[in-house]
Amino acid sequence: MSDAAIEVEGLGRTFKARGGDIVALRDVNLRVEPGEIVGLLGSNGAGKTTLTKILATLLLPSSGTARVFGHDVTKDAREVRRMSGVVLGGERGLYGKLTGRENLRFFGMLAGVGRRRLTERLDAALDRVGLTEVADRAVDTYSKGMRQRLHLAIGMINEPPVLLLDEPTVGLDPVEAERLRHDVAALRARGTSVLLTSHLLLDIERLADRVVILAEGAVVADVAVDEFAKLAGYTAVVTVRGTGRSPVLDTGRSSQIMVDDLSEAEGLWTLRLRVRDWSVDSFGHLGAVLGGVEILGVDVAPLRLEDVYGHVAAQLATGSGTDAVEVHP
Ligand code: ATP
Repeated sequence: MSDAAIEVEGLGRTFKARGGDIVALRDVNLRVEPGEIVGLLGSNGAGKTTLTKILATLLLPSSGTARVFGHDVTKDAREVRRMSGVVLGGERGLYGKLTGRENLRFFGMLAGVGRRRLTERLDAALDRVGLTEVADRAVDTYSKGMRQRLHLAIGMINEPPVLLLDEPTVGLDPVEAERLRHDVAALRARGTSVLLTSHLLLDIERLADRVVILAEGAVVADVAVDEFAKLAGYTAVVTVRGTGRSPVLDTGRSSQIMVDDLSEAEGLWTLRLRVRDWSVDSFGHLGAVLGGVEILGVDVAPLRLEDVYGHVAAQLATGSGTDAVEVHP
């Protein structure tokens, strides 16, 4: 048995299409350790769903290998399915006329969970995702959030050590989305490994230990979340508003402060700057710039993962090269 929960090596997938072949994945290498949550990011068409489907044995690779706890997705699909659960976002795949409990029982049987064990697990699985009260209602009457939580319960019914989540919070309201994140965090606490695809950076921020970015089918970044945050080159945006004499800027003084903008109108000024890192140097420089001026308000906006991803995506789009963001630990 391999140590890695997921191990992908030189993975490629090409689709035949009328206008020519579409290369969805090229030479992808990826490792997810036991108990690790890896966030998979990338723009539309980058290959995220293709990768998830190959790992879920729903698609075959064209080249390379993918293994789940040492079991090859091509040669040993049954074992891979036993070891993993998959949650593909959206409304698909539930039987609306059946109750939540019936759906869960049906998909549990498909996942190979024995009848007796299934009966034992149903209540706990429904309870874990907060569906106990509605378990005996037809799924047609469920809200999107309830359906998504049922998908999660189905993905987990065989208590797999590996979970593949593709856009699990898509279409959920903020309360439901937060609830689902809570459910996923609880899985991590139980040692489940998760490959999490999401366009919502909040999901990644809350849950992921590492971030992998796909662009045009290739991995262009594979870094710890903390390291990923550093790719933007700053940690917070500070906006200071004041009146009277405007601050005197001496940007050469600190390598920790980058001034973006100083505007003045009708006796009011607004200074926007980015702080590379909170340090004695950056506080000292801020003190020097803002000493002796009349401040009306200060707003500190900490860097969000969304800002970092925007920064990285812009670099990829301008072709300042995937090299610029290629980071492998
Ligand atoms: P999104 O964020 O939009 O879901 P994605 O990163 O999941 O995108 P994929 O769905 O994996 O991207 O698609 C990768 C590429 O493969 C795209 O160019 C897509 O058009 C192509 N593709 C995916 N499935 C098929 C298919 N069955 N036949 C032909 N091309 C396909």
